[in-house]
Amino acid sequence: MLKQKPVYDAIVVGAGFAGMYMLYRLRERGMRVRVFETGTSVGGTWYWNRYPGARVDTETMFYSYQFSEELQQEWNWPERYPAQLDLAAYARHVADRFELWPDIQFETRVSAAAWGEDQCLWTVQTEDGDGAQSSVAARYCIMATGCLSAVNYPKFEGLSDFAGETFHTAHWPEAGADFTGKRVAVIGTGSSGVQSIPVMAEQAAHLHVFQRTANYVIPARNRPLEPDEVAEIKANYPALRAQAKKSFSGNDFPVAGPSALAVSEEERNREYEARWTAGGLSIMATYADFQTSEAANETASEFVRGKIRQIVDDPAVAELLAPKQLFMCKRLCVGTDYYETYNRDNVTLVDISETPIERITPEGVSVEGRVYEVDVLVLATGFDAVTGALKRIDISGVDDITLREKWEDGPKAYLGLGISGFPNMFTITGPGSPSVLTNMIPSIEQHVEWITGCIDHMRDNGKTRIEAEREAEAAWVQHVNEVGDLSLRANCQSWYFGSNIPGKPRVVLPYSGGFPVYARKCEDVAAKGYEGFSLN
Ligand code: NAP
Repeated sequence: MLKQKPVYDAIVVGAGFAGMYMLYRLRERGMRVRVFETGTSVGGTWYWNRYPGARVDTETMFYSYQFSEELQQEWNWPERYPAQLDLAAYARHVADRFELWPDIQFETRVSAAAWGEDQCLWTVQTEDGDGAQSSVAARYCIMATGCLSAVNYPKFEGLSDFAGETFHTAHWPEAGADFTGKRVAVIGTGSSGVQSIPVMAEQAAHLHVFQRTANYVIPARNRPLEPDEVAEIKANYPALRAQAKKSFSGNDFPVAGPSALAVSEEERNREYEARWTAGGLSIMATYADFQTSEAANETASEFVRGKIRQIVDDPAVAELLAPKQLFMCKRLCVGTDYYETYNRDNVTLVDISETPIERITPEGVSVEGRVYEVDVLVLATGFDAVTGALKRIDISGVDDITLREKWEDGPKAYLGLGISGFPNMFTITGPGSPSVLTNMIPSIEQHVEWITGCIDHMRDNGKTRIEAEREAEAAWVQHVNEVGDLSLRANCQSWYFGSNIPGKPRVVLPYSGGFPVYARKCEDVAAKGYEGFSLN
């Protein structure tokens, strides 16, 4: 006899910060919700990215939920940028506090989701850790799969023949890894490499860093938070959060002026120096024309290059570490003792910008015919960002069209929230929303609250089916591209454009019009009865 599939009001895929909050909001409305999560606990990106030195690089008093005043008052962050363990503990605390655990099914991967027009339901296929398959059905399918979750495993020839241990920063074992006395190779110098390299260098007998592109790394200046500053922020949280939402990135970094070129070199460097000394990402907001004027951008680039030349003893190594591309072309990195690490005797920088890694041999990494012999290989090679996690699920919509087919030439989505041809599916921080260009947690909250409002509206109006209209979607995609093209970043190779993944179409993935403009657009769409969506 055919077993009846359990039917939920909503399936949520992923129990990171997006999935947890979505569950909380929907359940609050009395909906039956099931969350599926591949990991063994909550936290998403902060569950998987356990590499040495992993910590958030956004000020954490603001990289946290604000939906619950009690939560933000009771939780105490220990440091300016807490480590992965603290972030994972915070996620577990949220799951405890709001009793989320019973509705989350762990060690369960969503392999497929198929829309059924007849019953107006999604059927979601899952696989548990032993490969056993199940299926459940739901009216809504909400993808909380994360922007930086689908791991990019490079396809080096011979990788599987490597005789030592191999780790990927984004899939680090819970038990950790001990590099004491070992020869280690790390491939990749983005944020994950930048954070892990100084920590691994302290343990390893020798560390070889394979660098394809040098990045701009700003010192974090991490430190314990003082009780007084925490008390002050907590006393003013609502106003500070509201202020942050008015800023481009949702971070409230102070802008020194409209143009780096409108002030003297002396004044400009004083401003850069102050931000370098304070540490963190605020340097990216110093002048408003970094993304529109190459000359303005070059002033910030040259300031950081100057710092590298001061810090790194060997001028040849300093020159290799000095980025050639525009400032903020790629995501700015925040590190601790990153450049200082290259002054250590046990660290060697290997430039692979002109001569790529030929292959991995059982003994190590081969470049230009030379094998760098190592015991451990660390891949800090990043993610198939924004679209990767969605495309790895076999999703089929109206008329059995698959999401992979629809997005063959790049993602098409309306506001990064809905996709035409895929009714009753929502994506949290999907392509075409500001997502990775902003502080992620406020952006997640904005999406979850919009989706909740939309579902309320449907329920109040007796509607059961919502689908983004093709014309509205096309117009939004065009707008996202037009705004993206205005930025100097459009000339860069970066994961923002998918250029880190061989064969991935080059399309701007996040919306670069800023958080306030985007949030207003979403509010406007809702106020006009969900303009651009058809509701039945
Ligand atoms: P990433 O920024 O994409 O960096 C990957 C690195 O691997 C790059 O240096 C890349 O070189 C290199 N690489 C990739 N494939 C390669 C190949 N086949 N051969 C040689 N080198 C290769 O990835 P990530 O460092 O994991 O960071 C991704 C994003 O996650 C960050 O930008 C940030 O948004 C987020 N993140 C945040 C934090 C935080 O908050 N603390 C920490 C980590 C990550 P190319 O540049 O030449 O492609």
